[in-house]
Amino acid sequence: PVGSTPAGCGSTATGPLGVLGVPGQVNLDYAATAPCARAAADAVAELLPWYGSVHRGAGALSRRSTLAYERARQDVGDFLGVRPDDHVVFTRNTTDALNLLARALPPGTRVVTFAAEHHANLLPWPTGTVRLPVPGSAGDAVRAVDAALRELRRGSGGGAPILVAVTGASNVTGECWPIAELARVAHAHGARIALDAAQLAPHAELDVTALTVDYLALSGHKLYAPFGIGVLAGRADWLDAAPPYLAGGGATLGVGAATHDVRWADGPGRHEAGTPNLLGAVALAAVCTALAEADRAAQYAHEQALLARLRSGLAALPDVAELRTFEADAPRVGIVSFVVAGRESAAVAADLAQHWQLGLRDGLFCAHPLARRLLAEAATRSGRRDLPPTALRASIGLGSTVAHVDRLLTALAATR
Ligand code: PMP
Repeated sequence: PVGSTPAGCGSTATGPLGVLGVPGQVNLDYAATAPCARAAADAVAELLPWYGSVHRGAGALSRRSTLAYERARQDVGDFLGVRPDDHVVFTRNTTDALNLLARALPPGTRVVTFAAEHHANLLPWPTGTVRLPVPGSAGDAVRAVDAALRELRRGSGGGAPILVAVTGASNVTGECWPIAELARVAHAHGARIALDAAQLAPHAELDVTALTVDYLALSGHKLYAPFGIGVLAGRADWLDAAPPYLAGGGATLGVGAATHDVRWADGPGRHEAGTPNLLGAVALAAVCTALAEADRAAQYAHEQALLARLRSGLAALPDVAELRTFEADAPRVGIVSFVVAGRESAAVAADLAQHWQLGLRDGLFCAHPLARRLLAEAATRSGRRDLPPTALRASIGLGSTVAHVDRLLTALAATR
């Protein structure tokens, strides 16, 4: 399978989608930050000697760096299937990208989102945002958005712009949201849709044009690239009409002597003031290109097989309860959250790290409303009164193996 590595955690990984790691340490925390792919490390190593100022110098190093940066923008856009007139803006991460979009909304825009979102897709939106309750199925989600948009249209006399902001895959449950249907419903009501692709992009092919998504946000560090680089891609008009996200060099065409005398640039540069993250952009683009050239169906099948093994192994442990929003067999990416009845999740995570060299996350995963609700539901479903107040999350991706999954299941059986 694509990117699979020898047993252990892959510090010897080869091929562009091999991932770097430390022998003996098993990373089951890809949803927080995925390991770095060889393609990213190689792209950085190749560029380092040529490291020069982007968009700001005439020397050969600077020219090459500028070309590499703009080429990276093109490659990332191609990977995401953006429309020819979309902008691809480099940001720091998904949080930054969604905050940028929130600041670029035309005045009076109403936003519709779900309580199931990561905080990055809950908190940036303006006052008056409609936060729909966590739905029980993908169909419920589509119906809820349809009803909310109908209501908003009626209330505003049809005039105000509307943005539906939803995740592609939940960072708590891994469940995939019905993006194409939500986009269809949004557009039928004249609204736009923004996709938080932080968790979907690492696992499944994404095409903004085919999905008819208006905006997409993602993080490099979840997509096998380094920290500090992310993307907001999408419709140019709102972005070009908005005040620059950051004011400063690179975002202007000209500045006069008077304080108000500024002509802001159009295009992605309008929102990228300051010297950009060249290495991050180039590394992210290298991973995108490697993924675009890989057999993603095989990658998906490999991850789904591991996920099925993990979930059925968890289901067989009598004290373990999985957290889920949708039906048990709803499509999902390689993320599972669960609790061990009678054990504090932080203590279990510490035990797994110390005695089993397994790295997992515990907590509420920056999605407090969703995680709390699912913990309460898990208590009801299991009939147990001794479930802890926070959860554990295991997540997999390129480089994950059957041995990693089995190690977790063995450790959990022992830790009970
Ligand atoms: N959205 C989702 C679905 C996420 O899982 C995350 C990260 N956990 C974010 C947004 C925020 O990503 P970042 O911290 O890289 O900005």
